[in-house]
Amino acid sequence: MIRHHLSDDLLTGYSAGTLPEAFNLLVATHVSLCDECRARLGALDAVGGAVLDACETVPMADGALAATLARLGEAPEPVVVETPAAIFPAPLRDYVGGDAEAVRWRAVGGGVRQAILKTSSAASARLLYIPGGMAVPDHGHRGTELTLVLQGAFHDETDHFARGDVETADEDLEHTPTAMPGEPCICLAVTDAPLRFNSLIPRLLQPFLKI
Ligand code: ZN
Ligand code: ZN
Repeated sequence: MIRHHLSDDLLTGYSAGTLPEAFNLLVATHVSLCDECRARLGALDAVGGAVLDACETVPMADGALAATLARLGEAPEPVVVETPAAIFPAPLRDYVGGDAEAVRWRAVGGGVRQAILKTSSAASARLLYIPGGMAVPDHGHRGTELTLVLQGAFHDETDHFARGDVETADEDLEHTPTAMPGEPCICLAVTDAPLRFNSLIPRLLQPFLKI
């Protein structure tokens, strides 16, 4: 039961193809888990298509239609085999090249681990592993931070977030995300600006951790 969804702005940006790569990855991963956002995205894609239809038409090369139709006949539907115990939904698995066990985690203190994903420099993406009951150091945000829960759950000053939920944080929020006791919490977090840490140690480590 997903309670925290993507904003219209994000879905519109995704539909129009204007988001940085890191945000695209998070949106695609959430949409693969969330029927509601998938339906909203479908509606936005239809609007985008209608806008394109209203634009001036461009003449196509001779035979382009026939070639396109011929290709339609060839391509078999890709079969997506869902591993029952998969933590990463398909878009993220494709990106990482495997599930959570394929990730090369690095310790960042307090039992918390992270892995930076390679994306274009406009925004950054990382996977976070927070042992049950442990916290990410409290911090503020210079831009937008989206955190998608993939396993377990965390809570902070605003609410509780479980698998599929997305927390959207901006300049106005200072928080200390803390994993619920029990299962480790694994998240995908994307940011378009570095975080602002409130205590000295994370601030000193920040350039090395690239968060
Ligand atoms: Zn959603
Ligand atoms: Zn944050």
